[in-house]
Amino acid sequence: MRTPLVVGNWKMNGSISANKALLAGLTEQWQGQSAELAVCPPAAYLNQAQQLLAGSTIALGAQDASAQASGAYTGEHSAAMLQEFGCRFAIIGHSERREYHAETDQAVAEKCKALLAAGLVPIVCVGETLAQRESNETLDVIKRQVSAVTDFVGSEALAGVVIAYEPVWAIGTGLTATPEQAQEVHAFIRQQLGSLGDETRILYGGSVKADNAEKLFGMADIDGALVGGASLKVDDFIAIGNAA
Ligand code: PGA
Repeated sequence: MRTPLVVGNWKMNGSISANKALLAGLTEQWQGQSAELAVCPPAAYLNQAQQLLAGSTIALGAQDASAQASGAYTGEHSAAMLQEFGCRFAIIGHSERREYHAETDQAVAEKCKALLAAGLVPIVCVGETLAQRESNETLDVIKRQVSAVTDFVGSEALAGVVIAYEPVWAIGTGLTATPEQAQEVHAFIRQQLGSLGDETRILYGGSVKADNAEKLFGMADIDGALVGGASLKVDDFIAIGNAA
């Protein structure tokens, strides 16, 4: 019922020549398998990526979006601008933005609403820190981060939203949540979304690699992955896509 989705979050990596090689490899090897595949390059390369992805089944996404439509917001880009570059997705609320850019739950909710209004699919990231996990606050944190968004956009919008569960302690550390740890949180999120969330895809993120993807995707409520480091290597990213 839910089409698996694998999204590459390039973060602040890439160059014109590196992107060219990466996208050439991906478009050559990805022939529209059963999962959906998307890449999220830095905003500066969206134009280049849009051109290189023309005619392929790989979708394009951005790593952030402003909640505002236009105006005096230096350094920001709006959902409508992303739409013009052919973006289907935008990641919002990534823990790196929550931490380094002081992004609040409310700010994430506002970005989510702006993206939906522009016809894009928001990928809303949620996840607990190691300290929160160790003090048994994981589910409280997830509940707060998810409900900030669902309360603001309304649960009828949920089918058009993707949620990414990314435990902060698993991002870029090589420490993946076990499939069981991830499934516990995914099931909790699914339950929190209620019946209107049956179509909502819930991705896992945090050190997903070619060799751990299959077990994660075998869990009932894991509908794909948000992949950082491994999305920068053609073979690894394709292998994760094939496992979904
Ligand atoms: P990672 O990053 O796969 O490098 O851990 C995931 C993410 O931050 O989205």
